[in-house]
Amino acid sequence: MEQIAIVGLGLIGGSLGLDLVRQGHSVVGIARRAETAEAALAMGAVTKAGTDLALVAGADVVFICTPIDVTVATAEAIAPYLSEGAVVTDVASVKGEIVPAIAALWPNFVGGHPMAGKAEAGLAVAVAGLFQGRPYVLTPTDTTKPEALERVRAIAASLGANLCQCHPDQHDRAVAWISHLPVMVSSSLILACQGEVDPAIRELAQTLASSGFQDTSRVGGGVPELGTLMARHNRAALLDALTQYQQQLEQLKALIATEDWDALRETLTQAKTARPSYLPAASTQR
Ligand code: NAP
Repeated sequence: MEQIAIVGLGLIGGSLGLDLVRQGHSVVGIARRAETAEAALAMGAVTKAGTDLALVAGADVVFICTPIDVTVATAEAIAPYLSEGAVVTDVASVKGEIVPAIAALWPNFVGGHPMAGKAEAGLAVAVAGLFQGRPYVLTPTDTTKPEALERVRAIAASLGANLCQCHPDQHDRAVAWISHLPVMVSSSLILACQGEVDPAIRELAQTLASSGFQDTSRVGGGVPELGTLMARHNRAALLDALTQYQQQLEQLKALIATEDWDALRETLTQAKTARPSYLPAASTQR
């Protein structure tokens, strides 16, 4: 069993702790607020908790689970307390700027990103099994130590996650497509509906909205702070994706305007055919 430390006990840090404590690891949690530390202990997400960063001393593996914009600062703040040989990893949703910055502070670092989330944030919504069957990306570079990579890989695999490996920049371009663009598209969909000028029609639309709208609006109704941080820290890749999305939408609009129904059906068929390749094999019926 490992001595594990988790810095940042929100949705991701708390969920990770719940799984690791259940596996029998010793898990020290470090929160910003004392209430969070106490709550994590009470719900069994950690075996020891506090607000002092010095608690990372003695940990074999440290998970940084603070928000994207303070991930590097957290690494900087814990570095003086880390045991020699400790492996540090993070869970931030962007990697391109974070991975080289932390690797420069602590060579025994491995970037990571579990692809699992919820519409809300905070420890209160943390759950065991969050990462089960979900992708967990590790983003080693030429300087990443193989032993450190193996250590993090083994823990991520023990969560039941599907491991995947790529370069930090490749990660950011890929998640721009499947995670960051959908947040912007889905929130735009909700706001476009809100743009209906007739209040009676808007109200009727709200009454009629069913499973299709629930699916397509879900990520647009997520945590605004996280969406903003994703855009700020993955700006270039997200702008590229948004530009291509706009072009795609313009093409669809032109087909409808010109009543080119055969071409529209062909386009929708292409989308239907492509969709399963973005979904886990078991969920292609969704
Ligand atoms: P969260 O639920 O809001 O939790 C953030 C945690 O960090 C809280 O424990 C909070 O402490 C602490 N914190 C907040 N601001 C801080 C600051 N300025 N300095 C130090 N600690 C601070 O967030 P989350 O959703 O778990 O996200 C954490 C990380 O996971 C982010 O890097 C995010 O990109 C990544 N991630 C998120 C998702 C997702 O869908 N949510 C998915 C995959 C990866 P207190 O409670 O004590 O205030």
